[in-house]
Amino acid sequence: MPEPALTMARELADELIGGRAGDWDLAGRVPSEVLRTLGARGLLCAQVPAAYGGPGLGSRDGGEFTAHVGSRCSSLRSVMTSQGMAAWTIQRLGGPGQRAAHLPRLVGGDLAAVGFSEDEAGSDLAAMTSEIRRDGDTVVLTGHKKWVTAAAYADLLVIVAKDGDGAAAVLVPATAPGVTVEPVAAPLGCRAAGHADVRFDQVRLAADAVLGGGGQPLPLLVTTALAYGRMSVAWGCVGILRACLAATTAHAGSRRQFGKPLAEHQLIGRHLAELYVAERSATRACEHASDCWDASSPDVVVATVLAKHVSAGGAARGAASAVQVMASAGARDDHVVARAYRDTKLMEIIEGSSEICQLILARHALTGS
Ligand code: FAD
Repeated sequence: MPEPALTMARELADELIGGRAGDWDLAGRVPSEVLRTLGARGLLCAQVPAAYGGPGLGSRDGGEFTAHVGSRCSSLRSVMTSQGMAAWTIQRLGGPGQRAAHLPRLVGGDLAAVGFSEDEAGSDLAAMTSEIRRDGDTVVLTGHKKWVTAAAYADLLVIVAKDGDGAAAVLVPATAPGVTVEPVAAPLGCRAAGHADVRFDQVRLAADAVLGGGGQPLPLLVTTALAYGRMSVAWGCVGILRACLAATTAHAGSRRQFGKPLAEHQLIGRHLAELYVAERSATRACEHASDCWDASSPDVVVATVLAKHVSAGGAARGAASAVQVMASAGARDDHVVARAYRDTKLMEIIEGSSEICQLILARHALTGS
């Protein structure tokens, strides 16, 4: 996307979000017209190629737009992550007919979510029990997914399930008979991201709902979708760090205690320096991962895990520092640093928890794989 178009995208997001992110967080819902307006411009999954009607952003421009939205509203950014992950999964795993049928929908206003996790299959996705069964020219999906971001808004669910000895990603209309969507009550953070548990009770679908025909290795499906999700979450955390840095430096520069601005107290200066280092490190890690993505480099998997780990950890520590510096001025549920504090804790859990990222990075350090 040329720079003027990126500027217009940022301006539209600013206009739609305004100062309402705190209210949406408290209400637990982003207004439908906000999601549909951004969705219909293709801006919830802005990397979808122009051939399918999308904005066709590269990973770096897409990341900067994701950071911009993330700096203002992590719930909306979470919906973007899900939509982008769904589109990427269809783009990578779908056949030509599936891409042509579904990608234009996702840049035309329809909303999507991606479900892997189950009660007994969180970090260990190989333990999933949801499955599809073949029945003539149909498939039947049975199972239960939990904590699916944006499922409460979604028209289309991309569900990963066992398929014989392998696995499959299946496209399920949210209104299909046998689908039940139950919103997660009172999430810690990203409260307006539409998290929901979803049940599939003998959901019968046409065989062409199975991306690429199915029967693929589960790690391939999971790695494909999570690579996009990790990149998007990492850039979202960059945005959170930028928002925390802006709020904290403004406050520390103007608020006076003991006869001078807070910023002139060295212990507060240390908090500001740590926030700055976290923002710069996360940005650099994301830029590197996005450059690997845009160059189709084989290093992209590790670079993406590294970016997610650095950004989520830095954002969680940075948001805690921001609340500390703001103190009572930021200690309200709807304040940007308070939301950041709650939202960033969740960023250390999703798309591969900090521990799972560390295991992947340790294996890479040991073996290069
Ligand atoms: P567990 O797997 O039970 O892990 C508990 C703890 O043990 C964690 O700290 C974990 O890091 C650690 N742990 C686990 N295994 C190991 C190990 N081998 N070594 C060391 N430590 C380990 N799922 C979806 O499918 N789609 C979504 O859109 C989605 N969105 C989410 C949004 C939010 C805000 C949250 C909180 C969750 C979301 N999830 C989603 C689910 C998410 O993917 C899981 O929560 C995550 O994979 C962790 O699984 P778990 O919660 O079952 O924790």
